[in-house]
Amino acid sequence: MAGKSKKLVYLFGGGNNEGDASMRALLGGKGANLADMASLGLPVPPGFTLTTEACDLYYKVGREQIFAMVSKQVDDALKHVESATGKTFGKDPNPLLLSVRSGAAASMPGMMDTVLNLGLNPDTVQAMVARTGNERFVMDSYRRFIQMFGDVVLGVPHHNFEHALEAVKAAKKVKLDTDLDADDLKVVISHYLAAVKKTTGKAFPENPMEQLYAAVNAVFGSWNNPRAIKYRQLNDIRGLLGTAVNVQAMVFGNSGTNSATGVAFTRDPSTGANRYFYGEYLINAQGEDVVAGIRTPQQITLKGSREWAKSQGVSETERKAMYPSLQEAMPKVFAELDGIRQKLETHYRDMQDLEFTIDDGRLYMLQTRNGKRTAAAAVQIATDLVKEGLIDEKTAVLRVDPSALDQLLHPVFVKKAEEAAERLTVGLPASPGAATGQIVFSAETAEIWSVLGRKVILCRTETSPEDIGGMAVAKGILTSRGGMTSHAAVVARGMGKCCVAGAGDAIMDYKTKRLCVKGKTLKEGDWLSLNGSTGAVYAGSVETVDPQLTGPFGVIMKLADKYRRLKVRTNADTPHDAAVAVKFGAEGIGLCRTEHMFFEGSRIVAFRRLILVAETVKKLKDRFGVSDLKALEAACKTAGMPAKELESSLRAIAQYKQALKELLPLQRKDFTGIFKALKGLPCTVRLLDPPLHEFLPQDAAGQLEMANQMGVKPADVKALVASLHEFNPMLGHRGCRLGMSYPEVTAMQVRAICEAAAAVKGSKPEIMVPLVGAVKELAMQKTIIQATIAEVEAARKIKLNVLIGTMIEVPRAAMTADEIAEEAEFFSFGTNDLTQMGCGFSRDDAAKFLGDYVRDGIYDYDPFQVLDQKGIGRLMETGVNLGRQARPGIKLGICGEHGGEPKTVAFCHGLGLDYVSCSPYRVPIARLAAAQAALSGK
Ligand code: ADP
Ligand code: MG
Ligand code: MG
Repeated sequence: MAGKSKKLVYLFGGGNNEGDASMRALLGGKGANLADMASLGLPVPPGFTLTTEACDLYYKVGREQIFAMVSKQVDDALKHVESATGKTFGKDPNPLLLSVRSGAAASMPGMMDTVLNLGLNPDTVQAMVARTGNERFVMDSYRRFIQMFGDVVLGVPHHNFEHALEAVKAAKKVKLDTDLDADDLKVVISHYLAAVKKTTGKAFPENPMEQLYAAVNAVFGSWNNPRAIKYRQLNDIRGLLGTAVNVQAMVFGNSGTNSATGVAFTRDPSTGANRYFYGEYLINAQGEDVVAGIRTPQQITLKGSREWAKSQGVSETERKAMYPSLQEAMPKVFAELDGIRQKLETHYRDMQDLEFTIDDGRLYMLQTRNGKRTAAAAVQIATDLVKEGLIDEKTAVLRVDPSALDQLLHPVFVKKAEEAAERLTVGLPASPGAATGQIVFSAETAEIWSVLGRKVILCRTETSPEDIGGMAVAKGILTSRGGMTSHAAVVARGMGKCCVAGAGDAIMDYKTKRLCVKGKTLKEGDWLSLNGSTGAVYAGSVETVDPQLTGPFGVIMKLADKYRRLKVRTNADTPHDAAVAVKFGAEGIGLCRTEHMFFEGSRIVAFRRLILVAETVKKLKDRFGVSDLKALEAACKTAGMPAKELESSLRAIAQYKQALKELLPLQRKDFTGIFKALKGLPCTVRLLDPPLHEFLPQDAAGQLEMANQMGVKPADVKALVASLHEFNPMLGHRGCRLGMSYPEVTAMQVRAICEAAAAVKGSKPEIMVPLVGAVKELAMQKTIIQATIAEVEAARKIKLNVLIGTMIEVPRAAMTADEIAEEAEFFSFGTNDLTQMGCGFSRDDAAKFLGDYVRDGIYDYDPFQVLDQKGIGRLMETGVNLGRQARPGIKLGICGEHGGEPKTVAFCHGLGLDYVSCSPYRVPIARLAAAQAALSGK
């Protein structure tokens, strides 16, 4: 075996740190930072880390082999921990207990498993009771151990233990675990042991070494549990070897009222504010008690505690008596912790998320990591750290996740609407933003309803890792239990999702699907609104407004602009969208689709008139071999047609001309508005693209209405619709193929563009011919375009500055881009169609199987969302290279949906495109992604 002597175990704490922060990939984030903190001289209980390579081997060679490979190293490491603590694993008189903790290179909070108090059995229990004289504490540890080990390692369903515990509590008529004494806990333990026996058929394992390896096995195994896999998928965590396992000496936050456990953030993870040390703790508690929402957690600082009390309507007297801050309860420990907070921030130069435990008045650090935060907090913290001199501008730009900016660009409640809304209650402002949606009570329903296109608010008593799928699709999350560090709160913040947590007045009944808040009952499907920034919960849907783009957000965007090379344009079809995008920093329009313009009001009537006769006109042209409409009229008149046919032919030509005449001023007005909104920024206008049948009514009622408007028989409309039917419209008569058949439409559109440009000073139109596959298509369209430009220029006696180019969206165009570049002054990669045709996936039908394709890793991502760089990217690269060969300096951009997707933006930066174009709300994301691409030298 090649790896026999491979180092798979690394020590930390107890004066021997074999790892450091740079070794995340090998030791996992938790293990690397435990070693790092210990090196900094912080109080870290000693332990050791089994590496991610060991996990990788676990999956490759199997558990027997890997355990044989590590056993000697584990034995030696255990000796180190024993001598550092003066305790012995599994032995009297001073037994060492261990925690067995997962920890991958990327943080996956709560996704994998942890076992605490490992090493307990009847003998060690007795020894610990004898040594500590604190029977309650030992029994509490023991029942926790049986429960965690039973759940995580033995697969005994969680509720078996919950029932037993609740039964004992109920019998004693108490509410809290802390109200149980040693004897009560002994009863709980006996029930637990019985439950294990019953479900597994075997007694609970008593041998500590056996317990240890079983726990390590479970942690390695948890790397591939469904929720961990789902978490990695949602967070795009790829390419890791596995999880490390950290085995660490236990310290006890549950050993009495001079002990506690807590979690803290060095800055506010919701807003990024650096006002006070932000965190929660519980006295006489262990592990996940704080985040599990079992008791109401208390605040770390006095200031935080007072603010919390105010928001919860808790009086100062009650607060002091029942929920004192750590600062008040244990001032010395607080001071030490606050010092560590500063030390760690300076060391990691970022906001930290800490886990600590106080064992009989002594502070221990159990974890630190870069804290998850909302986008608002990310920009605030990044800009603050620059001001504080801890990081430079470039680092600040790299610190903010572009996709997360989405949260900041999305609406908040209209103030008046919120004031007028029916406020049901206030919970904790766990993750900011505003959300409105229909109530659902399960993650499953949330997922189903969202597929149906409904906006949902997921209402849960508390959430657990199994709910993440539903949380991901919900607009907002409401929980009735749990604090600011509860699962719901942490996960929602990571997702940038609005969340109100711990709204105790919101009583949820999953069975009857009802939500009762202070006497008001809402049912599944009713509308609910949440303000994640204040914690307010409202009945009904509340109107929202666009957010503010100044402050730290503005600072980060400015820095992004300073460091990016790629320009960012927007896809916009209306003056309003153009104006919004310019506000978001768009440097022009990269795609102005003109078809939407044909739908509004009376235009659709004019356009349908045109469609009604277009084919007749084309046939006449073909018959007489003339293309000019005037010449066609003359040809008809001299052809000796029967009178009736002549009349109907002339009527068709007249109607065609009339429709074009009506459309021209309407289109001109559209472009005038857009050019005005752009104030001299360039605007790429795409000529008519969709197949004509999309403009016609498909249903009988609509066809009847159209027939009446056009003065024809409904049967004629029906026949027209039938004649335009295509088997595969996306590959049918559309794009420049329409301009080839109906050149007058191209001419009308170009005239409208040019006349608008003439009217708005400084306009920079760029006319884009869609769906070109062969250079001649472009050449022929270009002739019409140039002739029209010349006509407008002559009539107005001006010189217009109009570029003519094409979309590269047919694979053939990419492969013959050198020929096409002879005619095109610019290329814009239309990656939606390029993906559709390049991968051979119909965008309208691929949903059926693409999910499976991504799940099975056939494609890394949905290629319609994240550009398939290998295939479609290769087509683009070919297009770029050939295009530049033929026309050095040719202007290049991308205008597919991908233009605002950070990975694709980085790819486009690498290709050396001039700009990306994306929807208005994604413009800031693209600006930041472009800067990050430039800074990371991709
Ligand atoms: P997660 O990755 O889910 O945060 P951890 O490995 O950090 O899981 O363990 C969860 C909690 O268990 C910790 O926050 C801490 O409270 C408790 N814990 C872990 N190790 C120890 C230990 N050595 N002593 C006391 N408590 C521990
Ligand atoms: Mg942790
Ligand atoms: Mg297209």
